[in-house]
Amino acid sequence: MADLFDVPSCDKCRNPAIHHQVYSGRMMCGSHLAESVRKKVSKAIREQLVIPKGEHLTILVAISGGKDSAVLLERIHENLGKRRDVTIVGGCVDEGIEGYRPPSLECARKLCEDLGVRFETVSYPELGFKEMDEVVGKIDELNDKKTPCSYCGVFRRQGINHLASRIGADVIALGHNLDDMAQTIMMNMQNGDLERTLRLAPHTNTPIKGMAPRIVPLRWVPEQEIHLYALHRNLPIHHEECPHGEGALRFRHRETVAMMEADVPGTRHGLLRMADDVKKLHAKAGGGLNSTSPINCPECGQMCSGSICKACEMKKQMQ
Ligand code: SF4
Repeated sequence: MADLFDVPSCDKCRNPAIHHQVYSGRMMCGSHLAESVRKKVSKAIREQLVIPKGEHLTILVAISGGKDSAVLLERIHENLGKRRDVTIVGGCVDEGIEGYRPPSLECARKLCEDLGVRFETVSYPELGFKEMDEVVGKIDELNDKKTPCSYCGVFRRQGINHLASRIGADVIALGHNLDDMAQTIMMNMQNGDLERTLRLAPHTNTPIKGMAPRIVPLRWVPEQEIHLYALHRNLPIHHEECPHGEGALRFRHRETVAMMEADVPGTRHGLLRMADDVKKLHAKAGGGLNSTSPINCPECGQMCSGSICKACEMKKQMQ
């Protein structure tokens, strides 16, 4: 009879397992989990990143000091770091969140140092925005219904675009994992927002005018596996969550997707495959998005679809 305290062993090497991959039925030790993550990410990089022959490619890897972007940078560096035709730069946006951003920024800086990757950073005040701690105070003062993340998401996108143009990036790599992607797809479905689904990264086959293409090499790797991989590789990561994140709709979608995945393992993969199929069908039908053609925002010069970009509109609200 099996001992009550028997540790399940890895399917491949019989070492003690640290992870049960429910959607595949596999039991994995640390090394075989790491191997699985490496394979998935390498395949995604090959599929998503086109390096034109004879040309040079600069990749901005958006890092935050958290586990996802740390794994992303470590993997991209491992896969492409030795290529002479590729430059990798780690870029971090400082939102101005006391107690959260300074230590995570240090983790991001340390990771770049360890890997020998150039590190760039930009703060909200440098971009002309208020620091997030101040934005949160203003939201309370105005009795605004929007969450801090609604502002922060828009400002951070500007920050990443700013870093991309500062270094002349051809491609921007983002650390979205499988859970993030599934949550975003659910949110878009809830809002009936087909256009956002069609705009989802990777943009390899669906470039968006006026925007450096985004790649998302972690998109098939669940969050938990990324966390285990980061620990296994001993990457410098910051574990705390942002203090202003509570109340964001994404957190409710996080719970919903986790519940659906527990009921029907493979749900996250299914959602992502469905979104991919929608994108393919749309491309087959001739592509094209309904939105009006982008123009340059008269205030900041970045591409936008309205008369003024969302970031400048929000900046005004915060004055
Ligand atoms: Fe910004 Fe929200 Fe993320 Fe905090 S949780 S860093 S407020 S987007």
